[in-house]
Amino acid sequence: MLTSLWARLTWAGLFPVVLVTALLYPIFNAQLDDRTARARGTAATTLEAEYERLRQAMNESLNQVLVTVEFPLLQRYLDTVQQTQSPAHEVALQRDLEQMDALFRSLLTHFGRYTRLALIDQAGRERLSATTIPMLPPPPKVDHADTALFEEATALQPGDLYISPPRLGAADGDETVTAAIDIATPVFTPSGRRLGVLLFTLDWSRLTAHLADPHEHSDTQFLLTDARGSWLLAGGGERAIPFGSALATEWPAAWQAMAASPRGEAKLDKHLLGFHTHDVRIHHYQSQAGMIVSDPDTQPWRLGIAAPRPTLMKVLMESRGQLMAIVLVYLLSITVAALWTFGHYRQRSLRQSALLLSRQARQYAGEVQDLYENAPCGYHSLDSAGRVVKMNRTELDWLGYRADEIIGRRLYRDFITPGSRDAFDAAFQQVLSDAREGAAECELLCRDGTTLPVAIQATAQVTAAGFQYSRATVFDLRERKRLEASLERQAMTDPLTGLGNRRYLEDQAAMEIARAQRSGAPLSLIAIDLDHFKYINDTHGHDVGDLVLQAFAGTARQQLRNGDVLCRMGGEEFAILLPDTTREQAMKVAERLRQTIAGTPVQVGEEVIAGGRLAYSASLGVTLVSAGESSLKPAIKRADRGLYAAKAAGRNRTQWHAG
Ligand code: GH3
Ligand code: MG
Ligand code: MG
Repeated sequence: MLTSLWARLTWAGLFPVVLVTALLYPIFNAQLDDRTARARGTAATTLEAEYERLRQAMNESLNQVLVTVEFPLLQRYLDTVQQTQSPAHEVALQRDLEQMDALFRSLLTHFGRYTRLALIDQAGRERLSATTIPMLPPPPKVDHADTALFEEATALQPGDLYISPPRLGAADGDETVTAAIDIATPVFTPSGRRLGVLLFTLDWSRLTAHLADPHEHSDTQFLLTDARGSWLLAGGGERAIPFGSALATEWPAAWQAMAASPRGEAKLDKHLLGFHTHDVRIHHYQSQAGMIVSDPDTQPWRLGIAAPRPTLMKVLMESRGQLMAIVLVYLLSITVAALWTFGHYRQRSLRQSALLLSRQARQYAGEVQDLYENAPCGYHSLDSAGRVVKMNRTELDWLGYRADEIIGRRLYRDFITPGSRDAFDAAFQQVLSDAREGAAECELLCRDGTTLPVAIQATAQVTAAGFQYSRATVFDLRERKRLEASLERQAMTDPLTGLGNRRYLEDQAAMEIARAQRSGAPLSLIAIDLDHFKYINDTHGHDVGDLVLQAFAGTARQQLRNGDVLCRMGGEEFAILLPDTTREQAMKVAERLRQTIAGTPVQVGEEVIAGGRLAYSASLGVTLVSAGESSLKPAIKRADRGLYAAKAAGRNRTQWHAG
């Protein structure tokens, strides 16, 4: 259950996040595209400006070299210095040298970007040089005969230029200069005779300072390499790429893009890259046309700019308010979804438990209803007038009616036999009274005319408004009555002979005496005792004695009328009550019985006695129940006396006894 709630809440958290993201993403992506386009534009503009700055500086320098080489003084000095020396020459040369030196120094001072100017003769010897650092003694004259610069420059035509690749450590001890570039041009006489080479060394690090360390655009980086990708920028702080190292190693992605085409743009991981090639041999020279040569594979330079690439996060972080709004939207949507889910979940579980409860309640109610309807006892409810308001099926079945025939229509009293109505009425009054309960044994009157003995126990349902209805339980007493009757019968029956016992006789006698008194009819009593019965028992055994007793009962029953009451008084003594029988008639019956007994031996089997038949006899005393006697006792006494007399007279005889 809980797991399911957590799973739902997780979905409730994910769903709004996905939804809000799907809605917001296109908006912020468009913003990002816009930022990227702007950044690209800015980078392109910056790159153009820096390129223009470098191009102009180079251009000026080239023009400067070309203008300088045209100086007649310079040509004359170089011409003179290479001719045979004479004192007159010496003086003129010294003067030219001083003027040349002054010219070089003023160029160095004036332009600042040069670190060294030198004049080289045809043999590669340096005839004059000036540096930004005034030195005493003057710097040693270098022999350029074997340098690439000299070899290239000395082969050029007038107006042509040689530009060396940028290199490190150009200046003589000047620590501020970390990289330099040489520009050289051949020197000719006006007549076209080759005189030597003019060399200008430029402070390359100063020229490219803006590129190496772009203060104004601290988050932007410039890239400058030669044609093979060697890094051409010096300086730029500790994290800068070292001069001369391969860009392919230092920043492979950038080099890959820049090497692929002469001009273009690329999106790197974190940068937007704009670049183009820049061939100093073609692009710079804007004066008298001439050829510009450089070392193979160093041109064109590749110039680039890497501006930080705008990211979605940066766009989002641009405005604190906007960020807060986004976070708020996410939080709100998650909260709403979570609350909705929780509410829905609770509602569902409440609905489920309510459903379960109502199902259980229905089932329980059904069971109760079933118990009520089909209980082994009857149930009913009556209103204060005794009208049936409710009755279960058991009781309806007993009565033999349908519910709609009774409920709300009939008084319960109508179904009570007149004989037991009083008991019912009394009990119902008890229920209506403060006692609030009552009980009665009544007889129900069923539709088919039969009656049903029942015990009714009722209680009153009372509220603050008073009596509402009675609620009664009705027990079927048929079984109990049957049991009682059977017990009663058992209590009055002799089990050996099946005859009534002494209690039965007394019971019957009470009725017969009453009837005799009403009618005035005579009522006779015969007392019987079997003769020498002890002897039979002793001789043949108790079982045979029992057989004799049973045989007597059977024989006697055959001799009597319906209505005569034969019973066993105990042992081998019997009595017969003869209603509506006179003394004479009674004597006749007794005598006939005595004779029949005496003439009907009992079948006891050969093993008991030879012939298998045991003869026996009885003595009888006869008397009349007197008219005034309400009990049988005196008559029994009289009959017994007659009996004793018969015994005394020798047994097997009948004796009247009047009293
Ligand atoms: P009398 O001729 O004087 O009547 O002699 P009697 O032997 O019949 O009289 P007594 O009263 O001395 O004996 C009665 C005997 O009947 C004694 C008793 O054991 C026996 N008896 C009593 N009830 C039963 C019974 O249910 N079955 C059997 N087999 N014998 C019984
Ligand atoms: Mg006896
Ligand atoms: Mg006897």
